Amino acid sequence: MAVAACGVCASELESWTGRSEPAYPVRLGHEVSGVVAELGEGVESPAVGAPVGVWVTGHGYADYVVAQAAHCFAAGDVPLDTVLTEPLSCVVNAVHLADPRLGDDVVIIGAGFMGHVVQQLTALRGVRHLIVADTRPDALERARALGATQTVLVGEQDLSEVVAELTGGRLADVCIECAGTQAALDSVGAVTRMSGKVVLVGFHQGPPRSIPLGYWNWMAYDLRNAHFRETSAILRGMAVGARLLRAGLVDLAAHVTHRFELADIGTAFDTALSKPAGFVKATVVIDRACG
Ligand SMILES: [Zn+2]
Repeated sequence: MAVAACGVCASELESWTGRSEPAYPVRLGHEVSGVVAELGEGVESPAVGAPVGVWVTGHGYADYVVAQAAHCFAAGDVPLDTVLTEPLSCVVNAVHLADPRLGDDVVIIGAGFMGHVVQQLTALRGVRHLIVADTRPDALERARALGATQTVLVGEQDLSEVVAELTGGRLADVCIECAGTQAALDSVGAVTRMSGKVVLVGFHQGPPRSIPLGYWNWMAYDLRNAHFRETSAILRGMAVGARLLRAGLVDLAAHVTHRFELADIGTAFDTALSKPAGFVKATVVIDRACG
């Protein structure tokens, strides 16, 4: 398959910097979209020339990747640099697991790329209040543009007060943590109602986290870890994600804020690490006209 684009994933940053000390060499790149260039023997579909999002476990920052036919998902006429079916799969599975119900009050902590997409898919579930918290004003501006009913600037506003007020003191039915930070975990208990659902989407890399398990236990929280490792779950999520993209039910175009050519991959990772104002997601595009 001829790669069109490969998204830079937050989970790759530790390998890139060497902080996670993986066994090098590491071949990064798993958020791949492109066009079918050639079929293996006996493969009949997808057709040569078909635009697809694909599941690969690495090697994605390349001109070409080899992928199984069953791991290719039709992209329709969606611009390929926004066909991020792999991270979309994570969010599809996360929202299925969180299972927000009609009329639920939902708090999303963290308005980065994953938080934004979680918000978009949660909104499809017909929830009442969709409250998004982050420490960055520009992130909250984007969350409002995506339809957040309320945003909270952490550090300046008290999230628990806002949630209590909006819900008449009942607090949120579902709290989806998308920040991957200790601070986000610390605020969960103050915004989630008794017997509510706490869903972990954030990627908790770095030092061990601590949670007030006694309190969470007493509050009868339904704890859900939205990290999916089984290939079957990932593929299922990608199929649903591709269907949502093709139908226009979700659009990731606004989130791809930074594009880099393959030769500038270092800058792509540096940008994903430094997260300049307005940054949501970087992708590496393969420009065949220049290549
Ligand atoms: Zn990823």
